[in-house]
Parts: sequence; structure tokens; C-alpha cells
Amino acid sequence: MQIKVFSFNPLGVNTYLLWDETGDGALIDVGCSSGQEFEALFSFIERENIQIRHLLVTHPHFDHIYGAKGSMLHFGLPLEMHEKAVSLIGDAVEAARMWGFDFDDFEGVPSNKTFVEGDIIEFGTSQLEVLYTPGHCEGSVCFVSHSDKTVFSGDVLFRESIGRTDFPTGDYDLLRDSIYNKLFTLEDCYTVRSGHGGRTTIGHERYNNPLL
Ligand SMILES: [Zn+2]
Repeated sequence: MQIKVFSFNPLGVNTYLLWDETGDGALIDVGCSSGQEFEALFSFIERENIQIRHLLVTHPHFDHIYGAKGSMLHFGLPLEMHEKAVSLIGDAVEAARMWGFDFDDFEGVPSNKTFVEGDIIEFGTSQLEVLYTPGHCEGSVCFVSHSDKTVFSGDVLFRESIGRTDFPTGDYDLLRDSIYNKLFTLEDCYTVRSGHGGRTTIGHERYNNPLL
């Protein structure tokens, strides 16, 4: 599986583009907030001739769904998120506007699709396992590629840091629970690709994260 990371919108969200040798691909957290950012993403996908099969969301915070509507309309695909994330999308739009961002609502887009813990998302010959990891907010998940020993951790775990828990539905104990009982069941060699910032590994965080 190939992975390309883009950093989008003023909050610097990592948008991950995944694809394999079949040409099928998936996007995680499309954060595009301007025409230029959409152009950068869409032109790369076109140039590489990637067929996007899934638009995935790690959690329903506005910086992670900034480009959701634009990409849903562009690819004609639904947005896929945890079943508990759906009802929080409206709050995310409200929050974005409160912070002064120009944020479109989700009128007129293909309806959402949901997944739960343990579901497998497939494209080409690739698979992503869904881990339900609440704590940063409800409806927050991580996606694991076991064949590539990589976990896309959203805002649950960062390099030597953890997700904030001071937003609505945040819960510090639940977040630690998600990290220890879900993410730390993965082997040390697994690469962690977070929602913001650079990559790390499960082992590095298990032994060096000052907040755990
Ligand atoms: Zn974020």
C-alpha cells in the first residue's frame, strides 16, 4: 500500500491518501479548506490514476471534515464514519463557524455510511481494520493496516503527546483506556500516523510518551 500525506487547512490536518497496485484507493480526513488545496489533492489523484473507493473520517471535528463535502461531491461517494460520529457532524459545523471559519453545511451530498469496531474497510487488495477509540471525542476511531503495520490514529495519539480532552464529549480516562487497551495491543513496530504532525511508532510511544 502506498501512502501520501498532505497537510491541509489552517489547523494543519494530515489528509492521508492510500492506494495499492490495483489503483484503488481511500482518503482519510480530507481537510482541504481552499480551492488550491482541493486542486493539489485532486490533481495528484488524477495523475496517479487512483480510483477512490472510500472517504473515511477518524472523528467528527471540523478540521478533519473541512474538505468532506467537496470530496463527496467530486467523487460521488458517501462520507464513512463511526456510527456515534454522525450526530456530532452538526456540532462540528457550528464549532467551525464559531471559530470564524467559513464552513459549508452538508446539504445535497451523498448520505453517510457508518462502521463500528472490528469492521474491515476494503479497497483493491488492501484492508483497514476499525478500532473504536473514544476519548478525544465520541465517535473517534483509528484505522489499522496490518499488512503495512501502520495505524492511522486521528487525534488519539501523537508523537510524544495525546489528544485533547477538553472539547465536548472529550474524556481523559476514556482516552487513556483507548490508548492502552486498543492501540497498545499493536506491536511496537507499528508506525503511527496521526491527525497532525509527524509520524511515530507504537514502541516509541509506549516507552517515551511523557503523558502516558
Ligand atoms: Zn484534529
